[in-house]
Amino acid sequence: MASIELKSVEKWFGEVQVIKGVDLTINEGEFVIFVGPSGCGKSTLLRMIAGLEETSRGQIIIDGRDATAEPPSKRGLAMVFQSYALYPHMSVRDNVGFPLKSAGVPKEEIDAKVAEAARVLKLDPYLDRRPKDLSGGQRQRVAIGRSIVRDPTAFLFDEPLSNLDASLRVEMRYEIAKLHQTLNASMIYVTHDQVEAMTLADRIVVLEFGKIAQVGTPRELYDSPANLFVAQFIGSPK
Ligand code: ADP
Ligand code: MG
Repeated sequence: MASIELKSVEKWFGEVQVIKGVDLTINEGEFVIFVGPSGCGKSTLLRMIAGLEETSRGQIIIDGRDATAEPPSKRGLAMVFQSYALYPHMSVRDNVGFPLKSAGVPKEEIDAKVAEAARVLKLDPYLDRRPKDLSGGQRQRVAIGRSIVRDPTAFLFDEPLSNLDASLRVEMRYEIAKLHQTLNASMIYVTHDQVEAMTLADRIVVLEFGKIAQVGTPRELYDSPANLFVAQFIGSPK
């Protein structure tokens, strides 16, 4: 479990500022969801936390250490990509074990980690299949499995369910909630889907044009939206 602190974080692409001074503390084990309309900076902020995007100004503190300049591999976080990022020519077993294999981990250790991930994600029956022979939900679980094997202290998800159909989305939402309980890891999850945010989050961060419009529990945001933007986004009656 990691705590992640953002201090006056800014992102500039050339002359254009897309993240405009974000201060936020994500507590150990917390499930935090970033919501907001397309283009408001959700992915950019998540990629900065992951280290995939440079931070222009401000600091990213992970477990008390300044991680702002650390490469992704040093941060101990797992970025879960959408399921289409799987290797089509590899079995499920090899897809899940791939990050360990590329890190030079011994085979016995890889097998043990893959078995553990398969147990948690109920992937045992599919280990020898190729991604094309799996359902969308199963593929998504493989994508999650690939990040679990590295024992991350936090998971970062960028719209992991957006390319699944409606019923699978509901199923996977439930799977992710269970995963959070089982792994007891901190999770930061980006979505533009209010229902996902309201059902999964401990706290929701509403982003508006690169700034935090409001942070609170789903209940707080629903009952006391800070402004009309939040109210309309969350769908509260005000
Ligand atoms: P969201 O994930 O909320 O839809 P993004 O973080 O992807 O938003 O994008 C935020 C803003 O930053 C958008 O205006 C987008 O066009 C811009 N942006 C994102 N990545 C780049 C980039 N590599 N270069 C220039 N502008 C970018
Ligand atoms: Mg995005």
